[in-house]
Amino acid sequence: MSTTSAAILAATPAAIAEAGAALAAGRLVAFPTETVYGLGGDATCDRAVAAIFEAKGRPSFNPLIAHVASVEQAAALVDMTGPALTLARMFWPGPLTMVLPRRAGSPVSLLASAGLDSIAVRMPDHPVALALISAAGRPLAAPSANRSGAVSPTTARHVAQCLGGRVAMILDGGPCRVGVESTVIDLSGDRPALLRPGGVAVEALEAALGGPLSRPTDSPDAPRSPGQLESHYAPSLPVRLNAAEAGVGEALLGFGPGPATLNLSPSGDLAEAAANLFAMLRALDRPDLVGIAVAPVPEHGLGLAINDRLRRAAAPRGTP
Ligand code: AMP
Ligand code: MG
Repeated sequence: MSTTSAAILAATPAAIAEAGAALAAGRLVAFPTETVYGLGGDATCDRAVAAIFEAKGRPSFNPLIAHVASVEQAAALVDMTGPALTLARMFWPGPLTMVLPRRAGSPVSLLASAGLDSIAVRMPDHPVALALISAAGRPLAAPSANRSGAVSPTTARHVAQCLGGRVAMILDGGPCRVGVESTVIDLSGDRPALLRPGGVAVEALEAALGGPLSRPTDSPDAPRSPGQLESHYAPSLPVRLNAAEAGVGEALLGFGPGPATLNLSPSGDLAEAAANLFAMLRALDRPDLVGIAVAPVPEHGLGLAINDRLRRAAAPRGTP
């Protein structure tokens, strides 16, 4: 872990132009999106994509999302099927990632899609992200800008703390509005499937598709999403779920009214809780504590994404 940092730069037009040029030259740039900060690289360049896997310490069988600035740009990479176009019209720009069949001649690096015949695409809802993709003039592969398995970054400072020495630049666009990663759905098979709950509520997608999303069982040997790896989003301290109160030496991460060390949302608002989740897990990951107890969060809407991240944060840690 490096604390010596690449410069954090306010995302001015000049900084975005400079970052776009760095990306076009195959370098890595961390940038804000509405979900979490991304570690961006040219999605069409094997060398840049390899550098992303290396910087994150991410298993190369975990494919990356190609971020685009328009539906047209996505359509050059993947087959935008009927349902995909409908969902893009409704939810893009926004925290929805669609896995779609790779187009013949698609320029996306095979390394980015982990050799699969599908590619995940998303148009983020953040002016800096969209301007940066346009400045780079190519789709950007951009997983969360943290070491693999650790808590995702929702501020530029979080990125500097864990990846500062590994990126050319960090663009600062303030704290992320949504705060959890995108919802990932697979539209490349016979039936639409939910791969990862996230910033778009599953209920909204099912209403738009007019039917339920299937939820494939986890496959131990070929994870289709890092969300399917057991331990992920994990702070250093152990995390205990569905806690009524803090035990000795524990912090309590609350939800709804009542005493807590930090509270995801005193009023019980799930969007506010999602936006606070990763920053509060980081703030409570303190050496003077023995663990983080977390109050129950309801399992609907954004609560699905919050509980998914919390379960991974609480999962037994594998050996590195
Ligand atoms: P992250 O980059 O950490 O936000 O995660 C991207 C998510 O999209 C992961 O869960 C990936 O496994 C998933 N993903 C990306 N590309 C594909 C693909 N072609 N097929 C299935 N899942 C994908
Ligand atoms: Mg991640």
